[in-house]
Amino acid sequence: MHASYDLHTHSTASDGTLSPTALVEAAASAGVQYLALTDHDTLEGISEAVAAAHLRSLTVIPGVEISVTWNKRTIHMLGLGVDPEHQQLQAGLAGLRAFRDTRAQSIAKRLADHGIEGAYEGASGYANGGLISRTHFARFLVEKGHAKDVRQVFKRFLVNGKPGHVRGEWANLEEAITWVKEAGGVAVIAHPARYKLTGAKLRRLLTEFKAAGGQGLEVISGSHSVDECHRMAQFARDFSLLASVGSDFHSPDNSWNRELGNLADLPPGCRPVWEAWG
Ligand code: AMP
Ligand code: MN
Ligand code: MN
Ligand code: MN
Repeated sequence: MHASYDLHTHSTASDGTLSPTALVEAAASAGVQYLALTDHDTLEGISEAVAAAHLRSLTVIPGVEISVTWNKRTIHMLGLGVDPEHQQLQAGLAGLRAFRDTRAQSIAKRLADHGIEGAYEGASGYANGGLISRTHFARFLVEKGHAKDVRQVFKRFLVNGKPGHVRGEWANLEEAITWVKEAGGVAVIAHPARYKLTGAKLRRLLTEFKAAGGQGLEVISGSHSVDECHRMAQFARDFSLLASVGSDFHSPDNSWNRELGNLADLPPGCRPVWEAWG
């Protein structure tokens, strides 16, 4: 029987709404057998998820979704199967979280200049002691009635050119790949169709990624259309990259419109990323 993999998910350790334990339980109920917890720039939720999985017939693969700046754009890179105790990886992620806090203060200041007070405290409240993501600002802005849902908040406030936007200054591609590989993991470009890169730019990204030791491409993603999955499968084959599968689940609330597990099979000719950990 074909095993069920979901190799891209979030918990309350970053911008998800389920605790690591609740995430593992929801994934097990959805029939997931191999679950990677891949919170943004933190490994904080891993030990809880691993402990919760001991009570279930499910394996947790320790992971992380690293924020990367490549060619002035933000790209997300997954590290799958990393050692969550690895010093160099932990130190790298701590640096990204420090930038997150500085950025959160800048976002709040920009929103205050726009007449919206208290956004840092508001977003911190949603982050509940964890790192602050734009998603936490979005939840605060919805609560205050500045937009009807998170999607609208991003469009009006949080993307390039809008009042609460602050440019990312994340890891560079080479260092992020090094952290993941030194920690024993596989480096995978997350949701490649989301960046709206031209074919030529995407080829350039994949060429540089491979040259720096990157190994995988997320072909099946909850944020890809069927056509995008097929297009990315072709890139994975052309670049001899391992193919990954993940929902990018954040929350059971339907505004995200992403289910745990329940992902399409990899198209023919794609080598699954789990071959890397045999
Ligand atoms: P950050 O890493 O803090 O800049 O936040 C990025 C996160 O915001 C992504 O991982 C998504 O969870 C969320 N996000 C980004 N763009 C949108 C959007 N247009 N609508 C809803 N959520 C978004
Ligand atoms: Mn997110
Ligand atoms: Mn992402
Ligand atoms: Mn994600």
